[in-house]
Amino acid sequence: MIRCVKAAFRTSKADLDRLFACNRVSAEIWNQYLSIAKNYSLQHNGSWIGKTELQTALKNQFPLHSQSVQAVCHKYLFARDSAKQAKNQGVNTKYPHKNKKHFNTKWVDKSFKIEGNTIQLSLGIQNGKRQQPIQIIVADLPDAEIKEIELVYDRKLMVSMIYDDGKIAALNDGSEVAGVDLGEIHSIAATTTANKSIIITGRKARSIHRFRNKKLAELQKLMSKCKKGSRQWKKYNRAKTYMLSKSERQLKDIIHKTTKQFVQWCTQNDVKEVVIGKVEGVQRNTKKKKRKNVTQKLSNWSFGKIEKQLGYKLEEHGTSVKTIDESYTSQQCPCCGRRKKTSTRNYKCSCSYKEHRDIHGSKGILSKYLHGDIRYLGETKSIKYLRIA
Ligand SMILES: [Zn+2]
Repeated sequence: MIRCVKAAFRTSKADLDRLFACNRVSAEIWNQYLSIAKNYSLQHNGSWIGKTELQTALKNQFPLHSQSVQAVCHKYLFARDSAKQAKNQGVNTKYPHKNKKHFNTKWVDKSFKIEGNTIQLSLGIQNGKRQQPIQIIVADLPDAEIKEIELVYDRKLMVSMIYDDGKIAALNDGSEVAGVDLGEIHSIAATTTANKSIIITGRKARSIHRFRNKKLAELQKLMSKCKKGSRQWKKYNRAKTYMLSKSERQLKDIIHKTTKQFVQWCTQNDVKEVVIGKVEGVQRNTKKKKRKNVTQKLSNWSFGKIEKQLGYKLEEHGTSVKTIDESYTSQQCPCCGRRKKTSTRNYKCSCSYKEHRDIHGSKGILSKYLHGDIRYLGETKSIKYLRIA
């Protein structure tokens, strides 16, 4: 199965500068493709430039590897086709048109070489000479055949790698669909179409989160009192980095355990399809905005991790994973349609509907996915409780 992983790398100062330059050149290529496509369309009564014509348009003009140049072209074509598809389905979207300053550079096929933990990224010809490849060292390379390497920026330059792990998805002859409500602190609640439910809670995750936030606030306060870059400031900064990476490791381990338990439950309950409710980025509470932003980021981080881990593990079992917008699924009563917020363990409505808060949420997501609205799906038949230590 095809996987994707993002990793940090080490390199020399000179090569790091060249990597940044690669993404600037890729942006320049992107911008040129945009203008070529635009001009073509203007000269041909609005018809689109063809794939081959676009591909040959920028051959041998940039210092990047020819396949890295092609990759930008493919991304452009992909963006154009996706926009067309979306438009056909009635979605209000725009064709690619924005000029960029940075664009992820991609190395595919023969444009990179791997030996041990060292990757050589090939470049193109400049002033009639093939340039020296860029060398990077990636500590945790996946033990598999790497197909693509993309240079991405996530607070620093990192590599995103696509590889084949050689595994084949198992056959799944289940028939149930499960709605999943991901809780704030690494908890999962789910209900199947057969009305079987599970609640997995993570007490330890909660305490790690709390400790992490408390420590982070303390260190940031201390750092704000020192001169940026001073010896004392650096000391606090190191402590911050250490604390963050340690808690991240602990949380990763909990996410692994939680998702593993969930996948087991899915198999036991003949689940063929899983739908996860996704919080759309709504910003509330401007008063405590600053503090909210920190917690928001953390929960986005864990949501992404849990979602990704679930995807990997479920796909191995032949279970498909989808996400839907979870708006109102936790607030709306499925019997009478009233909306309210619940701060207690149980959701209770004045119409006499009552349900465990998280199970209520998972059923709302399931209903929204199956029927497009929030309906009553019947009484919960069983609830399995699990606690990840
Ligand atoms: Zn009600």
